[in-house]
Amino acid sequence: MELLKRKIEDEGTVLSGQVLKVDAFLNHQIDPVLMLEIGKEFSRLFAGEGVTKVLTLESSGIAPSVMAALEMKVPVVFARKQKSLTLTDNLYVERVYSFTKQQTNEVTVAKKFLSADDRVLIIDDFLANGEAALGLANIVKAAGAEVAGIGIVIEKSFQPGADKLKAAGYRVESLARVASLDNGKVTFLNNSVS
Ligand code: 5GP
Repeated sequence: MELLKRKIEDEGTVLSGQVLKVDAFLNHQIDPVLMLEIGKEFSRLFAGEGVTKVLTLESSGIAPSVMAALEMKVPVVFARKQKSLTLTDNLYVERVYSFTKQQTNEVTVAKKFLSADDRVLIIDDFLANGEAALGLANIVKAAGAEVAGIGIVIEKSFQPGADKLKAAGYRVESLARVASLDNGKVTFLNNSVS
């Protein structure tokens, strides 16, 4: 998605060879015009998949997910990150290791918001090692529902997440694919370089 790539080039910051900071338009301040375009693109890519619900992870997955869900006219559910839980009867719970925070969270979704006849589009802001997306996919499976696909705003293709998800049989669509963050520079897969 060219608009997104330009935005990353203009406003993204490389924090290390591994982490891209995009707090100017996605992770802190949010650009709603860009989010709407992202939502339209996810909607276009997954049209025909029979999506009944969008599932994401708080907090940075919410903005692109709401826009995609608005386009698709389906609800969006965000999984919550919680420390440690005692009462889990009404919840689906998955342990997810956070790439950026380097800690494990329990990620939860209320059982009443997913049902066996749902076809769920999972959306997240970044894809690194695939932990977050796989955790969400496990929650969808626990509900007896189907994963219709996985939509990622920014995939870091030099990390193993995308291959892991595809090997698990999921359709993955990433709007920007970063080949490297070496030398403080964003290099996209398929030519374009910042
Ligand atoms: P994964 O679970 O695929 O290892 O990592 C994806 C999750 O970690 C996303 O939900 C995102 O919040 C966070 N993340 C991973 N890499 C980056 C990054 O380079 N920049 C930012 N801002 N978040 C990242």
